[in-house]
Amino acid sequence: MKKLRVLATVLFVLATACATVKTVSLSDKQLKANLKKHISTLASDQFEGRETGTKGEQLAADYIVTQFKEIGLKPKGEKEFIQNFPFTEGANIGKGTQLYVNANSYKVNQDFYPLQSSSSGIVTGYIARVGYGIYAPFLRHNDYDGKTNLTKKIFVIESSYPESKGAHNKFSDYDLRQRVEFAKMRGATAVIFINSDTTADNPESDFIHRFTQTTIPVIFAKGDAAKLLKEGVVTNCTVGVDIQKIEKKGHNIIGCLNNNANTTVVIGAHYDHLGYGGEGSLYSGEPAIHHGADDNASGTAALIELARALKASSDKKNNYLFIALSGEEKGLLGSDYFVKHPTIDMKAVNYMINIDMVGRLKSGDEVLNINGIGTSPAWITAFDTSVINHVKIKTTISGVGPSDQTSFYLDSIPALQFSSGIMSGYHTTEDTENKINYDGEVSIVRIIMRAIDRLNNSGKIAFQKTDNAEVMPKLKVPTKGKRQN
Ligand SMILES: [Zn+2]
Repeated sequence: MKKLRVLATVLFVLATACATVKTVSLSDKQLKANLKKHISTLASDQFEGRETGTKGEQLAADYIVTQFKEIGLKPKGEKEFIQNFPFTEGANIGKGTQLYVNANSYKVNQDFYPLQSSSSGIVTGYIARVGYGIYAPFLRHNDYDGKTNLTKKIFVIESSYPESKGAHNKFSDYDLRQRVEFAKMRGATAVIFINSDTTADNPESDFIHRFTQTTIPVIFAKGDAAKLLKEGVVTNCTVGVDIQKIEKKGHNIIGCLNNNANTTVVIGAHYDHLGYGGEGSLYSGEPAIHHGADDNASGTAALIELARALKASSDKKNNYLFIALSGEEKGLLGSDYFVKHPTIDMKAVNYMINIDMVGRLKSGDEVLNINGIGTSPAWITAFDTSVINHVKIKTTISGVGPSDQTSFYLDSIPALQFSSGIMSGYHTTEDTENKINYDGEVSIVRIIMRAIDRLNNSGKIAFQKTDNAEVMPKLKVPTKGKRQN
């Protein structure tokens, strides 16, 4: 048995070694020049950091479509190569936003403002004053102690903390969202925060709500309105919040190489980045272009070159679908939309390869991260060694990680992410083209080709669920529910 297997392996390696030579149509020098052209273009000032839903994203999309056409891919979007997906980014405060206390009407932004977690809605009723709204039996603090008849009331809550605010405030876990959720449990139909502590900051007024909302109106009241709500006689109160969501569109670019095969390999890379900063940026200066050369012009360039290589390849046992994904930085939006609105038969998808940040291989100590190796037993065939052409292979098991392979894994598709890792300057204005290691990226493109090549004869590979505790360190999947008021 053992000997046979060794022989089989030798034959297999020989066969694939020959295939590798045949499939690589570009010299390293040509490949390097192409990668440089793509990254220099996508990460240039003109593309303004390619934020989803902006002009920069559109320019990048046009560039990628041109490349896909030139290579000879067939359009596989909804409108030619393009698949639009809607997303909500922030909101405006609508006309229905109001606050009445007794007969007094108050002005939005001047006397009060909705908080980020508020839902839309209008509520009229009596108020109930519940101190800080904190129930903390551990800390022997309960603002609800002795309070009855709270059902269907509008709760008035102090936004500060029982003890002065500081790094070691023992109540700091009781943020406003938490207090709102507890108020709801106690019967609140709306919450009005006030702040009587002059040493404490008022809650943020910047009205975006890209994260999970609660189900009741939540506002912050100041000045006379706050005074009346704190200690006046209040006979009735009306709170209304009218959220006008700002709807935008992102664009996936999808092209296919049809080999009349039964199975399709999906290769993806996100081309969007952070624009001028904003959410997700780790840069703290004035708004400035985040070029995103490594993240992820590098992966987009690799995607384009893999399309070219696979077009020329003799690996014809799969069809190939190339997707330049958008909305990744805003929370894997493009890949999530694609798996829910696929333009191909998802049952025929063999596996997915996601390329995210492959431009910063460390010279001298080349380490390539391959995340998601547990998503199929077949990956062992593809990466049977820990070093490929001087590049050390470092794998993680989990199918859930901080990039688009996650969306495919969650759709029960074997999925990997290739990455040279998180570099200095990640998600800042420092991620620029001059820092790209092009020789390193050439090696990575070759390693991905080698893997695809090795799986050419494997048929449809098996999906395997992973223990999802393991994710790449430092990076997080952008979440929609983590920010606080
Ligand atoms: Zn990123």
